[in-house]
Amino acid sequence: MRFDIVTIFPGFFESVFAQGIVRRAQAEGLVEIRLHDLREFTHDRHRTVDDRPFGGGEGMVLKPEPLAEALESLGIGSKGAREQESKEKRGPRVILLSAQGRVFTQAVARKLAGLERAVLVCGRYEGVDERINDLYCDMELSIGDYVLSGGEPAAAVVVDATMRLIPGVLGNEASGEFESFGAADAEIDVDVEGVPRSQHGAGGLLDYPHYTRPAEFGGLRAPEVLMNGDHAQIRRWRREQQLKKTLKNRPELLERAALSAEDRRMLEALRDGG
Ligand code: SAH
Repeated sequence: MRFDIVTIFPGFFESVFAQGIVRRAQAEGLVEIRLHDLREFTHDRHRTVDDRPFGGGEGMVLKPEPLAEALESLGIGSKGAREQESKEKRGPRVILLSAQGRVFTQAVARKLAGLERAVLVCGRYEGVDERINDLYCDMELSIGDYVLSGGEPAAAVVVDATMRLIPGVLGNEASGEFESFGAADAEIDVDVEGVPRSQHGAGGLLDYPHYTRPAEFGGLRAPEVLMNGDHAQIRRWRREQQLKKTLKNRPELLERAALSAEDRRMLEALRDGG
């Protein structure tokens, strides 16, 4: 999968993408990340990318011309133009990182991981001239309910979470499936009314807690159940811990999670017993 990132700070990504799984995925040719410096698409002496907002108020706005030129240089026509051609070929998806976007979840990451190419536009200052969104962007994504000073950390989050779901990127193919939010699509895909649930949130539960050696640390022993080799018991304990953590930290996820009868029994017990 290819990611193109349009940014005024390409240097931001140098160390972010030079470590760990994302570095390896690039080295193995599974992921390609291209950085595009917005200032290269300016034509004035000062390489101006921003201007004052119409209507007044705080701050500056990323002006539309350099962004449009950057996108066109990547072969991204306006949405209207792309609609004509995308019948035959699956075109790239253009994503605007924005605090006003729909929330980026594991379910969205899973969808993006199925694309061949995604273009990420990073805003700065007060944001991006809205006409860039209207003309070129297929979706606005927010990484959470807080305001960053730029889209770059958000783009790094989207690339990281997406690329690790591309087949072959994780050493252990299964490991993505059993993490937080990782319930199989089949289990979370539709709600009672047949509405695709993965549109609205990740579904699934949070991960269970992990332990490694030493068996005793800081006066705390790792749970005995994990050391006795009884796999059925371990599986049950881990499921219970997932329910417990989700109940404690993200109870709203339980409303959408696919729960078995046994899960519901365990949940009842957890609610009663604390
Ligand atoms: N005035 C805007 C905030 C602009 S912050 C507002 O109140 O919504 C500058 C840039 O940071 C944005 O253009 C966007 O690209 C990025 N950004 C800020 N918060 C973000 C978030 N939660 N998710 C994704 N991108 C974000």
